[in-house]
Amino acid sequence: MAVSSTLKFENSETFARSMDEADPLRSYRDRFYLPSLESLKSGRYEDVEGGQPCVYLAGNSLGLQPRSVKESIGKELEDWAAYGVEGHFHARKPWLPYHENLTEMSARLVGAKPLEVVVMNTLTTNLHLMMVSFYRPTKNRYKVLIEGGAFPSDQYAVASQAKFHGYDPENAVLELHPRQGEETMRTEDILAYLDQHGEDIALVVLGNVNYLTGQAFEVATIAARAHEKGCLFGLNLAHGAGNLVLKLHEWQVDFAVWCSYKYLNSGPGSLAGCFVHENHADSFDLPRFAGWWGHNKKTRFEMGPSFDPISGAEGWQLSNPPIFQLAALRASLAIFDEVGMVKIREKGDKLTAFLEYLLNDIPGDFCKIITPADPAQRGCQLSIRFKGEPKKLLAALKEEGVICDFREPDIIRAAPAPLYNSFDDIYRFARILNSFASGK
Ligand SMILES: *Cc1c(COP(=O)(O)O)cnc(C)c1O
Repeated sequence: MAVSSTLKFENSETFARSMDEADPLRSYRDRFYLPSLESLKSGRYEDVEGGQPCVYLAGNSLGLQPRSVKESIGKELEDWAAYGVEGHFHARKPWLPYHENLTEMSARLVGAKPLEVVVMNTLTTNLHLMMVSFYRPTKNRYKVLIEGGAFPSDQYAVASQAKFHGYDPENAVLELHPRQGEETMRTEDILAYLDQHGEDIALVVLGNVNYLTGQAFEVATIAARAHEKGCLFGLNLAHGAGNLVLKLHEWQVDFAVWCSYKYLNSGPGSLAGCFVHENHADSFDLPRFAGWWGHNKKTRFEMGPSFDPISGAEGWQLSNPPIFQLAALRASLAIFDEVGMVKIREKGDKLTAFLEYLLNDIPGDFCKIITPADPAQRGCQLSIRFKGEPKKLLAALKEEGVICDFREPDIIRAAPAPLYNSFDDIYRFARILNSFASGK
């Protein structure tokens, strides 16, 4: 999908605008609320419309609000008012099976069968639930392999699982690191690592995309080698869902988890997704932490004492889910489903390549992109390492209405989101960097 390599870019506002005019997804920007320079300063909702829209490049931290979310949540508020508890059966979309409204869209989003996905809980919770079932250390094979510099929550989760099983995380948690002097991992090195240590490893968990470097791993190849070595393979798709074209079923990933508030635009702290491969759909002998929402739907309300799990991912549910948050995610997923990940990725690839081109056009060694240059090994995030004083740069960006993410000590993560970012946004961002680099 290296469409970007065939594109010829120009470093001008006119060119950026012409890209926007030719963009088949350009109308989707109007389906979102973009914070404005004015609303950022005043904090007033009334200042969002009609102001100067910000250049929002932080969709990998918190995606923007689709305009359709308000109506979607509003309907559930009305039905709650009208029906009370009866809404479980009589709401326009009854609450009892409400999460099922999201199943097919989630499945298409991550390349799964409906049986393999469910929306439930939050990301770290789901990671733990998955490790309860799929991290099953034995005397000779008890290690977990993660990427070095994994997102802290993932590190804590993995280390605490190792401890829970009575192992010292120092010894039980293995980390992959790039070669000396390199920023990202080479697939060949990951495969060689598995060849060498695979027999000690019970579970491999990778973040796809890596949150810090923006590297997308070659999942199918790595999962196949992990399986050859007898390891199970899981993914954290916090930065992959809604960003990459995913084929979880085909890739034979054992489990995956993702949050929906980053690229998936469903609101702060919103619900998470979970994938369990069909191969494990009826593995009822796996240890699992159970709750009533994972119980056979036909007999759930008989309130019997013994747990009878639903086949597939739904069998890992614990609680009846928050309907308002599901309503927000349903509205947001509908947009992804309408466009499809292939088109979203195509535009993401172009936006990212344009950003790369403009950054490479900045004279001197002011900034360096650490995300892989190969479009197949990244999504729409570029992680940029800066020389000089990042705090001053961040202040300058904010002053001009650019919102992006900074990680200590010197990395800015800029993520053009295909549904609401424009080529003009990218141009505005790069122009500010360029003037900052040249001291203007
Ligand atoms: C965002 C993110 C998290 C956050 O976890 P929550 O449980 O949603 O708070 C965890 N891991 C990764 C890799 C992330 O990017």
